[in-house]
Amino acid sequence: MDKLILASRNKNKIEEMKQLVTHLGIEVLSALDFPDLEEVEEDKPTLEGNALKKARYVNEQTGIPALSDDTGLEVEALGGAPGVYSARYAGEDATYQDNVLKLLAELTDKSNRKAHFRTVVALADGDKEYTFEGVCKGTIITEQKGKKGFGYDPVFVPQEFAETFAQMDPAIKNLISHRGKAVQKFIEFLDS
Ligand code: IMP
Repeated sequence: MDKLILASRNKNKIEEMKQLVTHLGIEVLSALDFPDLEEVEEDKPTLEGNALKKARYVNEQTGIPALSDDTGLEVEALGGAPGVYSARYAGEDATYQDNVLKLLAELTDKSNRKAHFRTVVALADGDKEYTFEGVCKGTIITEQKGKKGFGYDPVFVPQEFAETFAQMDPAIKNLISHRGKAVQKFIEFLDS
């Protein structure tokens, strides 16, 4: 493989994923390099389904092996919500801030603050398709801390750490995160 396209327009995800694969020495593009690509509707009931749908579409349109990511935050006290609906938790056009505020409101009276991020990364290359999963356990704190990262990062403290993803050096987040673990599995697969 000498070229890879990241099937995403999310600049935060693209930046994190590029950092994770940069040492492979392959040319890494993203959906931002192909303005004619359509937005893929994430209408599947699972992270795997959405990740495969995005990777498949971008691979079909560009002919380049495509790697996508679909991520959900699964909160124990909320029965696993928002999960696959994490991007739209506070409504169809919700901002990151809307979603974080809704999450904090839903957890106001809850003593169990355990949660984990789950990422499924999908690779589509013609009729070959593979998925790789990464999980990062942690807790949801009661107020936002830190300005780095994106999404739910300001309220998520990973297990065995004292700061949120949004307070951390992005390189440390990438080492321990759901996305980092899933992409690491993809890299091990390429090596094998
Ligand atoms: P998506 O459907 O994979 O784009 O992600 C769903 C939602 O999860 C996004 O809108 C973000 O709010 C959130 N999200 C995804 N990855 C992360 C992350 O690494 N940290 C914090 N929030 C994330």
